[in-house]
Amino acid sequence: MSGIGRLLVFVVMILNCPGIGAAADHESGGGRGWYKGNTHCHSLWSDGDEFPEMAAEWYKSHGYHFLALSDHNLLMRGQRWHNVHDRDQPVAPPVIEKCRQRFGPSAVETRGEGQQLQVRLKTFEEVRAIVQEPAKFVMIEAQEINGKCGEWQVHLNAIQHADPLDFQAAGDVVESFRVNLRAVADQAARLTRPVAVHLNHPSWPHYHVTAEDLAELTEVRAFELCNASQGANRFGDAHHPSLDRMWDIANTLRITEHKSPPLLAVASDDAHHYQQFAPEKANPGRGFIMVRAERLAADAITAAFNAGDFYASTGVVLRELHYDRKNATLRVAVEAQAGVNYTIEFIGTPADFDPSRSPVDVPPKDGKPQRPVFRYSDDIGKVLARVEGAEASYRLSGKELYVRAVVRSDRRMANPPAGESQVEEAWCQPVGWEKWLAPPATRP
Ligand SMILES: [Zn+2]
Ligand SMILES: [Zn+2]
Repeated sequence: MSGIGRLLVFVVMILNCPGIGAAADHESGGGRGWYKGNTHCHSLWSDGDEFPEMAAEWYKSHGYHFLALSDHNLLMRGQRWHNVHDRDQPVAPPVIEKCRQRFGPSAVETRGEGQQLQVRLKTFEEVRAIVQEPAKFVMIEAQEINGKCGEWQVHLNAIQHADPLDFQAAGDVVESFRVNLRAVADQAARLTRPVAVHLNHPSWPHYHVTAEDLAELTEVRAFELCNASQGANRFGDAHHPSLDRMWDIANTLRITEHKSPPLLAVASDDAHHYQQFAPEKANPGRGFIMVRAERLAADAITAAFNAGDFYASTGVVLRELHYDRKNATLRVAVEAQAGVNYTIEFIGTPADFDPSRSPVDVPPKDGKPQRPVFRYSDDIGKVLARVEGAEASYRLSGKELYVRAVVRSDRRMANPPAGESQVEEAWCQPVGWEKWLAPPATRP
């Protein structure tokens, strides 16, 4: 460990004493507080296996405060009938029965019979009228805009925009994201309510979006660091960086080369499967965000999301999260569970980092060339301090481009996805980066 490293750990130990501003900041009522929600999941309106009101009910009955159902390339509007015997997406009798049991015998409207039997899917407004409850649970209208640019998957979520958007492809991955982001921004410009966007699962299905893409796409502020379903390739492989490392690479390049704020990390579950819970199914409940909003309402949640006042989680909940700008100190305290061990890491890139990079020789997949990958120095995304325990603080030296905190626990997720992380974690957003984007003359 370097002399600076030793000093940083010492600073953390000093600050890591109990009783510093440990007031709980939790509230699930109607006022300012932390609200648990998911911004990415699907229903029968696209390729999910559940009625939208039942999907929403799952979240509501599992301690969530808000849900943005984000079916593929549509908003849940207008008359929509679904074939019960659809070859790809049949609706089994118990699925219909379960919905009727929960919402009453007339809850599922049908037409036709036999092989032609259809069920009507409730619109967003209808679902909201059924499940939304003041100070308890809100629905937020959203859409996953997705398609391909050649071989590459391009997926993003728009939240609270005006009208459904068709996916548009352009010359390359970055331009394809851009043209769709522009379409959302055009709608947002004529609305008075806040509109949010996040870029989805960059490494699914096979590393289609690179760290350099994430850096260059400064139009988007948030991305899915953790799409907690199988196949998200969170940990990378021999040729590709993990998503955590891609986040640090992108943040470093954003601040230094693109003069742009770092990315905000989102966790979601991208749920498609509500009937069978298993490691290889895309089940609800695995990844979520905790948003600190003025009140529990769609506009307030979306505005707080855009302000970056949230953290990403797969189970770890924070009792305190505070960045004291004056003292340049980031403080994190976990709502600790009995018998669970926590490690808090403060990660960042020093301003005098080694910017060298070299290309990685990525082998073709299925005979096709892959997206370029670069290897960067270990200066990027350095562990600046590590604390074993449920609370810690880090005082920035002023020489970090940004610092972020991550909490890892040894508690197994209730239903971990196959091949991905199995333990509960939480990721806080980068702090301390603003001064590097200020004009040099005004830099402290
Ligand atoms: Zn997707
Ligand atoms: Zn999705």
